[in-house]
Amino acid sequence: MSHTHDHGDHDHEHDHGHAHPVRIDHDDRPLGYYQIMATAVFELLIEKGVTTADEVRAAIEAMDGRTPEQGARVVARAWTDPAFKARLLADGSAACRELGIDMGVTRLVVVENTTEAHNLVVCTLCSCYPRAVLGRPPDWYKSRAYRSRAVREPRAVLAEFGTRLPNDMTVRVHDSTADMRYLVLPRRPASTEGWSAERLAALVTRDSMIGVAVAKPA
Ligand code: FE
Repeated sequence: MSHTHDHGDHDHEHDHGHAHPVRIDHDDRPLGYYQIMATAVFELLIEKGVTTADEVRAAIEAMDGRTPEQGARVVARAWTDPAFKARLLADGSAACRELGIDMGVTRLVVVENTTEAHNLVVCTLCSCYPRAVLGRPPDWYKSRAYRSRAVREPRAVLAEFGTRLPNDMTVRVHDSTADMRYLVLPRRPASTEGWSAERLAALVTRDSMIGVAVAKPA
C-alpha cells in the first residue's frame, strides 16, 4: 500500500511505498470481567444521576494531566529549601499539599538518596505508583519482570537502566502498597550551587524519582 503524506515543512508530496505493519486494534478483543464491571457501574451511576459523563471525563483528563514535572518541582524545592526538605521527609503528603499537590488519602513516603544509600521503588503486587506527583507509571514499572527482579537483583536491574552504583553503596528497595506510595529524593547534581529551583527541576527525571536512575548532571 502506498499513500501520500503532506509534510508541510517541505512543499512537495511524495509516496512512501512502504507497507505499514499490521497492528491489532487495542480494543479488538473481548472485554474482561473488570472492564464489564466498570462499564456497568459507570452506566448505573449516570442513570441514577450520581454523576455525569462529563464529570467522569473531566476526572480522567485531570488524571492524565499529571506529569513528573510535579515531582520535579517537589524535589527541586527540597534541594533549595532545607526546612521544606525536613517537612517532606517527615510527611510527604503534607509537604506536597503545601505546593498545591493533593495526595488524597494516600500516604506519600519520600526516601532520600545519600552518598551511602540509594533507593529504588517497586510495587511487587501490581502497579501502585505515586501518580499525583509522577503521572501514569511507565509500562516497564507494571511488568512482571521489573516487579520481581527489582527485589531479587536490584543492582542488575539498575545496571540495565545504565545506573551503576559503587559496591559499598547500600541499595534499599521499597515495595509500594495501595495506601502507601514512595518517591525517591535524588541527590542534587554537583556544580549546581546557586541554581534556582526552576532550573534545578529540569535535572529531575521521572526515572530518578523512581530510583532506576540518578538526576541528570548539571
Ligand atoms: Fe500495586
